[in-house]
Amino acid sequence: MSPAAALLAFATQTLCPLPPVKLAQAIALSHWRTGLYFGGTAWILLALWVLVRLRTGAVIARLAAGVSGRSWVQGLIVIPLWGLIFSAITIPTAIIGHHVSLHFGLSIERWPAWWVDWVKSTGITLVLGVLVLSILYVLLRRAPRRWWIWFWLITVFLEVVGTYAAPLVIDPLFNHFTPLAQTDPALVDQLERVAARGGLHIPPSRIFLMDASTRVTGANAYVTGLGASKRIVVWDTTLKIETPNEILFTYGHEQGHYVLHHVAKGIGWSVVVIFVFYWLAYRLMRWLVRRYGGTLGISSVESWSSLGLFLLLAYALNFVAQPIANGISRHIEHQADVYGQEVIHGLVPDVQATVVSSFCSDAVVWLDDPNPNPFVEFWTYSHPSTEERAEFAAHYDPWGAGQEPKYFSK
Ligand SMILES: [Zn+2]
Repeated sequence: MSPAAALLAFATQTLCPLPPVKLAQAIALSHWRTGLYFGGTAWILLALWVLVRLRTGAVIARLAAGVSGRSWVQGLIVIPLWGLIFSAITIPTAIIGHHVSLHFGLSIERWPAWWVDWVKSTGITLVLGVLVLSILYVLLRRAPRRWWIWFWLITVFLEVVGTYAAPLVIDPLFNHFTPLAQTDPALVDQLERVAARGGLHIPPSRIFLMDASTRVTGANAYVTGLGASKRIVVWDTTLKIETPNEILFTYGHEQGHYVLHHVAKGIGWSVVVIFVFYWLAYRLMRWLVRRYGGTLGISSVESWSSLGLFLLLAYALNFVAQPIANGISRHIEHQADVYGQEVIHGLVPDVQATVVSSFCSDAVVWLDDPNPNPFVEFWTYSHPSTEERAEFAAHYDPWGAGQEPKYFSK
């Protein structure tokens, strides 16, 4: 090891030490990710701003008006056109992102398959975009001052319906899901022990195995759906990477999301955040069109010529909302970590060591940066950093003297 590498290894000494080669890769990957995220955002905002400034909105709206006098028909032209423009703007960062994932071995998905995925997801976005934006423009015309409240109510409805439908309709378009009981009944028996320890019965029909290994190398599991579609999904990669005890913790963490109703709570939080941001969008759109409408060729907020500006504003506001959404997510993820660690107490010999090694197993395959930049973590991390999670787990012993478990009794 060179002196510099030795110094680096010392400075980043962690609970999950990566071999020097992996550490160098993890740091390089972290730089790529940060550059792509913030650089990509800046590029998209700049490109949209240039298009808006060049009065593209007015050109597209005129084109649509030449085809039909009916507003809804114009929408069927204007919305897909802006959708395609937006896709063209975002595709370079998506391509670089996949190239980076392939280079660092996180992805094994070949380019033809990647393009098929891209076409599918772009098609879905276009169809949903036409539906949602058509509704938005009807509201803009019918309720110029209250549209944002109506649109908020519709968004809440669509979010609930979408969360319910996603695992049934959207997810199977990209991956295969089989009940875990079919492929690994012995593992389901083990997971049932964790469920029983949590005092609940999660039907085995609600635990699925996903064929993630067709695309990626890393391990993961998640809870999705709502009500009758609610389920726990384990990536097949997890079964290869983690030891049986580590899998129990990974599953226990997901069971935490399940029993603590984190999907529903996540919707609840987003409903509050979206309300504020829709109001902001309402105020800003009104002000922008009044002040710069003439320069930008936008006759009014409710005319189809405003859609480009709407996209620009929505993208900018979404970027500003990221630290709020990720802050809420990190809080929820920490709760699931605590639950997961508590629920496997008594089921594995050394809970703290199991949880730490579970995080470390994942850190190697995901090439987690052991020392992420605090600002990047604040803005972009949906989970606490692996190092923070491992650090917490190593020192969390609620069955020890003077402490109490949060979700269980001693
Ligand atoms: Zn989680």
